[in-house]
Amino acid sequence: MTDWIHCNSCYNLPRSGKNFSLTNCGHIYCSDCLSRCVRDRCMICGNSCRSILLSTEMNPSLQMYFLDPLIQLKTIQQIFEFQQNQQMRLMKFWRDQVEKISSFKDCFQKMERRLMNFKCDNATLREENQILRRKLVQNDLR
Ligand SMILES: [Zn+2]
Ligand SMILES: [Zn+2]
Repeated sequence: MTDWIHCNSCYNLPRSGKNFSLTNCGHIYCSDCLSRCVRDRCMICGNSCRSILLSTEMNPSLQMYFLDPLIQLKTIQQIFEFQQNQQMRLMKFWRDQVEKISSFKDCFQKMERRLMNFKCDNATLREENQILRRKLVQNDLR
């Protein structure tokens, strides 16, 4: 994908075996043409400029300009998917926690209702018990 790299001055290609440099004004020079720039002044745009050798050791923020944009897009997509996946996991965890709490609440409410019923039953039994006792006492007195 870097078959477009050429010296912006003499139009030589990197396969000529020369070193190529990138200027901070955004121009690419072969080593021959770069050496002809007088007093660090770019022959193309006339700006005073610095240059760095095109190599794999270049700063990633500069290397980026020489990479296939489609591969860059794929990488961005992978980063996006990875982060989305992580976010989904965290969201699922919290959703599960909320469900657990609400099911615990349901369970607690059921137990509370059963306890109330039990209290009612207990009161009824006490009453019946008292009536029966009274009847027994009355029978004994006769
Ligand atoms: Zn050149
Ligand atoms: Zn320039």
